[in-house]
Amino acid sequence: MLAVDIIAKKRDGEELTTQELQWLVSGFLAGKVPDYQMSAWLMAVYLKGMTVKETVALTEVFLTSGQQMNLGDLPRPTVDKHSTGGVGDKTSLILAPLLAAAGVIVAKLSGRGLGHTGGTIDKLESIPGFSVDLSQDKYMQNLREYGLSMIGAGPTLAPADKRIYALRDVTATVGHPALIASSIMSKKLAGGAQHIVLDVKYGKGALMPTMEQARDLANNMISIGEHFGRNMTAVLSDMNQPLGYTVGNSLEVKEAIDVLQNRGPADVQELILTLGAELLVSASVSADIGTARKKLKQLLVDGSAWRKFLQFVAAQGGNMQHLQSPDLLTASDERLTIAAPSSGYVADLDALTIGRSTLLLGAGRTQQDSVLDLAAGIVLLKKRGAAVQAGESLAILHGSSQEALQAAAAVASSAWIITAKEPDARPLIGAIIRPE
Ligand code: URA
Repeated sequence: MLAVDIIAKKRDGEELTTQELQWLVSGFLAGKVPDYQMSAWLMAVYLKGMTVKETVALTEVFLTSGQQMNLGDLPRPTVDKHSTGGVGDKTSLILAPLLAAAGVIVAKLSGRGLGHTGGTIDKLESIPGFSVDLSQDKYMQNLREYGLSMIGAGPTLAPADKRIYALRDVTATVGHPALIASSIMSKKLAGGAQHIVLDVKYGKGALMPTMEQARDLANNMISIGEHFGRNMTAVLSDMNQPLGYTVGNSLEVKEAIDVLQNRGPADVQELILTLGAELLVSASVSADIGTARKKLKQLLVDGSAWRKFLQFVAAQGGNMQHLQSPDLLTASDERLTIAAPSSGYVADLDALTIGRSTLLLGAGRTQQDSVLDLAAGIVLLKKRGAAVQAGESLAILHGSSQEALQAAAAVASSAWIITAKEPDARPLIGAIIRPE
């Protein structure tokens, strides 16, 4: 085979065979297909797309390039959730212990944040002592014993995807749904869970700007997962404004603790209950969505989810004192308040702008090796629909220097659009895609 023929075939919109895809990717990994040919092929895919057959085949090539977790011996149904990334999205921190408290096994290999979206592993690392690098034996032991473990998705997981993603990132080829779907699903499948719920976000702070694009991506991922025999569901959720009231690693852990203690923000709780109920029904733990939601709510109210979180953090070495007194987690050196320039209603709060401003505080990564300020971030005081008076506080920024706070405030203050008219309500959950 010749790389140039495979590129030309895709350029002309033809379907590639599994053998051609396998040859191309393994040649690239072996250094026989150079970056420029892989880049040309990626751009051809970006412009011409891939059939479901090709997308499944590419996923399999990525999946089999690395290690795969075998969870088949575990005694209860295994579940996992994937979010396509957002601002203030602390969902996994809450959903995982909540589901484990409901009796399923939550096996999560998570990522770090890059760019304006956060990552679960960074958030967990803001708990002093917490280890995201357990051995595979310890990970399996924790799954068996506590029904829950979350560790970093290491370099042995779909390494082919990792190499190709790095190239996509610098050749403007990240955004195609078939490429995103095969990339994400190769890692989810390698994680080994049987029941997977996808939180596919749309809006200003999301990978997919519109609900229709999110639906397209979700359908691509569902087709792949079902091909590999997994039970798939997708929730399309709004990411035009941040989720909850905090953005930044330790601030988000603190808010997650609030939700686990049944006093967190309504939007976070709604998303948790929606995603969790889908998994409980998929895993046949609950007969229907209404029963599943009631069960999950009860586990928040009676403290079971909170106790499971404490058990999980202790099992991975986290400092218990910081969880019992979460203010210890968020002790940033400096603070700055953003005030409303006029009176009215918050008609919009741009998640992307807020996410970008937290990068200036050091809360997120602009490069793979950026060192984070885990205590930095933003506490939002007014979100979409809130009434404000001129001069009233819109948000409090947390950071390590006044310069960083001033720079972040200059960006963040443009995130709020204040109008005289109260905006119409906008649903958090756009759609749910279930198996037919
Ligand atoms: N996240 C991934 O893991 N892969 C993509 O292609 C996009 C987002």
